[in-house]
Amino acid sequence: MDVRVSGVRKEFDRFPALHDVSLEINSGELIALLGPSGSGKTTLLRLIAGLESPTEGKVFFGDEDASLKSVQERNVGFVFQHYALFRHMTVIDNVGFGLKVRPNSSRPSSEEIRRRSSELLDFVQLSGLEKRYPAQLSGGQRQRVALARAMAIEPRILLLDEPFGALDAKVRKELRRWLREIHDKTKHTTVFVTHDQDEALELADRVVVMSQGRIEQIGTPDEVYDKPNSPFVYSFIGESSKIDVRVENGELWLADRRLGLKSDLPDGDASLYFRPHDVALVSDSDACIMGTVVASRRVGATRRVELEIGGASERIEIGISADHPAKEMSGIAFRPQHWRVFPKS
Ligand code: ADP
Ligand code: MG
Repeated sequence: MDVRVSGVRKEFDRFPALHDVSLEINSGELIALLGPSGSGKTTLLRLIAGLESPTEGKVFFGDEDASLKSVQERNVGFVFQHYALFRHMTVIDNVGFGLKVRPNSSRPSSEEIRRRSSELLDFVQLSGLEKRYPAQLSGGQRQRVALARAMAIEPRILLLDEPFGALDAKVRKELRRWLREIHDKTKHTTVFVTHDQDEALELADRVVVMSQGRIEQIGTPDEVYDKPNSPFVYSFIGESSKIDVRVENGELWLADRRLGLKSDLPDGDASLYFRPHDVALVSDSDACIMGTVVASRRVGATRRVELEIGGASERIEIGISADHPAKEMSGIAFRPQHWRVFPKS
C-alpha cells in the first residue's frame, strides 16, 4: 500500500466538505475519484498533496504520517484541469521546472534536466515541440506537457484533477486511452479525478464513487457498474430504472401485485432498482412487472419503451430488442434480471 487516507474529515468554515473518508491506494494503481461537482474530489486530492490539512483524521505515505512532510517532501506530481503551464516558458523549460527549483543538494545539472525533459517529451509524443510556448499548442498538447512536467520529478504519486475536463469530447477520448497506455508503461501510482463515468470506467483499476463528501462505493469498474451498493451509485453510474415497492414478509409488492422477488429488508416502503436494458420479457402468466406502453422509440440496436406501471402513478423505461413489435403492443410483462432493493429514501 502506498498512500492511505484514514478517517479524514475536512471542514471549511464549519462546512464539512469531507466526512470520515478512508481510502487505501496501492502502489502502481490507477484510481479514479468519480462524483458530481461539489462531492469533495478536489478537496480529497489536495489533502493527499498536502495543499490542505485534515480537520480530523490522517493521511499516510507508506507507514509515515504525511502531516510531518511538507508539500515538497511528499513529492507529488499534480495536473489541474486548467493547464497551469508557465506561459513565458518554452515547453521544455516547463517540463524541467520541478527539477530546476529543487534545493541545490538534489538538483540535477542543467544538462541532465534538459536530457530528462526531452526524454519525457518524447514519451508523451511531443518531440519537436521543445521550443514552442504554451500559447502555440492545442489544449490536448498542453495537457500532455503538464503531465510530462508532473512526471519529471519522479513523483511518488500522480494527482490529476479533471485533466481533460476543458477539452472537447473527441480529444478527451483520445487522451483517456493515451493516459492508460502511459500508465501501463510507467506504473506511477495515480489518482485521477473526473465527473465523467465513462472516463472513470474505461481508465481506472478501481473507482471511488463520491457524493456529498462521502465515499459511496469503492470497487473495480465492473463491481461499481454491476453491483452498485446504493441508490446513488445506481443512478450515477450507467442508466437505472426505479420502482417504488413494498416489502412484506420478505416479498416485494407493487400495489396489490406480488412480484415474485424476495428481499431481506424489513417490512415497509422500498425502491427496486435495475438497469433498463437488463430485463427479460415474460408471458403474462409468469409476469413479474406488468406495464402499459406509453411510448417507444428506437435507439440504435435497442428499443426504449416507456411503461406505466402500478396504475398511472409511475413511469419507467426499459430497453428491449429493436425488432420487438413493442409499438403495436399495449402491454408488456417483464422481469428484471439483476436488481437490488433499497429502503425508500
Ligand atoms: P469537487 O472537486 O468534487 O467538485 P470540491 O472538493 O471542490 O468538490 O468541493 C467540495 C465542497 O467543499 C464544495 O461544497 C465546495 O464549495 C467546498 N469547498 C471546497 N474548497 C473550499 C474552500 N477553500 N473554502 C470553502 N469551501 C470550499
Ligand atoms: Mg473539483
